[in-house]
Amino acid sequence: MQIGIPKEIKTQENRVGLTPQAVAQLVRTGHQVLVETGAGVGSGYVDAEYQRAGAQIAAVDAVWQSALVIKVKEPQPVEIARLKPGQTLFCYLHLAPDLPQTDGLLASGCTAIAFETVEDAEGRLPLLAPMSEVAGCLAPQVGASALHAWRGGRGVLLGGVPGVAPADVLVLGGGVVGTHAAKVALGMGADVTLLDRDLNRLKALDAQFGGRLKTAHAGMLHSLIRESDMIIGAVLVHGAKAPHLIKREDLATLRPGCVLVDVAIDQGGCFETSQATTHEDPTYLVDGVVHYCVANMPGAVSRTSTQALTAAVLPYAQKLADQGWIAALEADPGLAMGLNVHAGGLYEPSVAEAQGKPL
Ligand code: NAD
Repeated sequence: MQIGIPKEIKTQENRVGLTPQAVAQLVRTGHQVLVETGAGVGSGYVDAEYQRAGAQIAAVDAVWQSALVIKVKEPQPVEIARLKPGQTLFCYLHLAPDLPQTDGLLASGCTAIAFETVEDAEGRLPLLAPMSEVAGCLAPQVGASALHAWRGGRGVLLGGVPGVAPADVLVLGGGVVGTHAAKVALGMGADVTLLDRDLNRLKALDAQFGGRLKTAHAGMLHSLIRESDMIIGAVLVHGAKAPHLIKREDLATLRPGCVLVDVAIDQGGCFETSQATTHEDPTYLVDGVVHYCVANMPGAVSRTSTQALTAAVLPYAQKLADQGWIAALEADPGLAMGLNVHAGGLYEPSVAEAQGKPL
């Protein structure tokens, strides 16, 4: 099958659909891969590496003619205009809140399979998880820098030094983001407490981290936020807007210069005072509390993110290429959950419900 890897054109998107190593596997198994000129540069992969992997470096028009197009972000309007019946698109779509994109994909006649709705045998989201892992690991790092005094932070070093206590870090939500945030914050020497409303989750984390991680149930929230130097927001209620765990009036009870890292900002944020920010200007102050609310945190580490995403995507890409999308989806019900659009029809119930469209 001919597979196209376009260069991402969404603003500040430096990831790429597949690494050269993944391309090499697809080529070895008999597929033809067209990579757009410069597609991997933002992730540190030059065209020559793709050529050595057996890919053909091609212009944008040729890449978008491919039977299977694999990319990262949802297609932009000029990209949607290139799609046609018989083509399969495999990438993040996030269609529910995006009517123009949904209408564009429906009108194109293509088959669009969304990373974010593919499920594994346990009902988890294997193509979303890698980016939550990256964002979770980044959260204490960006929070540590926001704690610097010149940025309005408390002027506290996360790990302390001999004779001086480490910073108190509170992680709200013990899912994929929260677990990775706790791991990195512990590794940086902080005193870490993780709060979740799910007691079974806390039990599992206690077993995983032993005594190194303190766990807390939801009723402890208000006493814990007063004793924290950094609070990482990592809660998710599937499909819903994030709950506001810290309200505007709570800010007065926090330590001055406390840092709030709202990873859940892509679901609206779990602090009432959160507003989405960018990598260029990531923080702002409200009542002396530093807020970090970047909605595409993995973009800051595009090479790691590309490698993590590719590792998760490649097995599915291989199935789609080897079997064609119909047989691949028939053979793997979890991959079939990714089907959002085909030949002008909508196949994802949450999108149909959000947009009042028929399935
Ligand atoms: P997850 O489903 O793995 O974990 C969410 C956790 O929150 C669960 O353990 C759940 O029990 C807990 N929770 C839900 N409501 C709660 C409440 N009221 N109080 C306490 N705990 C509560 O989700 P995840 O993959 O860790 O993602 C977390 C958030 O991070 C999501 O909104 C996700 O979209 C976001 N995210 C953001 C970025 C970014 O760049 N900003 C990147 C990746 C993920």
